[in-house]
Amino acid sequence: MSPEIYNLTKISYKNFLMDAKYSKKFIDELVQSISLVNYGQDVSIPAFVGCVSFAGAGEQLWAIKGGNKLLAKQLAHNSEATISLNTRVNSVTQLDANLFELSVTDEKSGQTSTRRYNSVIIATPLTENQLKFINFSTNFNVNFPKRQYHRTVSTLVAGHLNKKWKGRDVLSDNESTFFTSIGRVYPVDDSRDERTPVYKVFSRTPLTTDQLDLIFEDTQVVYVKDWYAYPHYDSVSEPLPPFILSPGVYHLNAIEWAASAIEMSLIGGKNAALLAYNQLGGKTGDANTYTQNTANHQITDEL
Ligand SMILES: Cc1cc2nc3c(=O)[nH]c(=O)nc-3n(C[C@H](O)[C@H](O)[C@H](O)COP(=O)(O)OP(=O)(O)OC[C@H]3O[C@@H](n4cnc5c(N)ncnc54)[C@H](O)[C@@H]3O)c2cc1C
Repeated sequence: MSPEIYNLTKISYKNFLMDAKYSKKFIDELVQSISLVNYGQDVSIPAFVGCVSFAGAGEQLWAIKGGNKLLAKQLAHNSEATISLNTRVNSVTQLDANLFELSVTDEKSGQTSTRRYNSVIIATPLTENQLKFINFSTNFNVNFPKRQYHRTVSTLVAGHLNKKWKGRDVLSDNESTFFTSIGRVYPVDDSRDERTPVYKVFSRTPLTTDQLDLIFEDTQVVYVKDWYAYPHYDSVSEPLPPFILSPGVYHLNAIEWAASAIEMSLIGGKNAALLAYNQLGGKTGDANTYTQNTANHQITDEL
């Protein structure tokens, strides 16, 4: 990876664009509206995540027919891994240098059991104390969960826009506006029939009925998803968090602190898999070596 890319995590997006001689109007009006819609944050975010947000505003974006969830489904299928759905991990306990015990609860039956693994990859943002780490040394890298995540409320509305907004997607370039974007969404079967149109509105706090009335003429169905969506990129001086929480325990989502996006998670996943592979006795090497070796090499346990 070019060191230039790492350097982009260390300077603000605004300074990066000003140094590149982009005009203030372009930065304040166009670029900021894109960082607000994609990350809910203004151009003081680091330049790397800013560039990722801008890439997401281009025309050549693709969606998977049938729904983007098919990406995860197909990857899981192709991996041939054993996957336990509806199973919550409560804690990870270190038993030995290369032995970890997970306490898991089957969310359907409510039954809790334990399972042992040689290596653990955590593939979720650690935003709260949703997972306990037991019996790890004091060097365990757990500081980063204290970092803040940014709240984004996604409101899906089946209804008709007021005259003011009709016929266009709307991006806000102002952090104090009560929404950051209004965009039309289409069914995953790509049909564009005469059903009531559906819009997705992003905001920092849940929308009140009065606010919805300012946008919509009528609201037939309203669905709200309120979440801590991506890191709050408030500082360029904070070091990026580690992938290795402790030898044998890896955190894929550390990469979200450089930029949060599905493509980034794929890179984080590959990093975590290579680290675990090497720990479990694979040869150190790049992705190609890994691919060649896996055919003949039995990894000692499945994650
Ligand atoms: C509003 C919004 C819009 C976005 N738009 C885009 C976009 O347009 N393009 C893009 O590329 N990215 C986008 N992203 C970012 C993208 O969604 C993330 O990068 C991606 O989901 C990260 O994938 P992940 O598998 O690492 O984590 P997640 O998708 O967060 O998956 C983690 C999973 O772990 C589960 N989990 C958590 N704790 C436990 C536990 N203790 N036990 C068991 N399971 C647990 C969770 O339920 C969840 O299913 C957006 C994110 C948000 C919130």
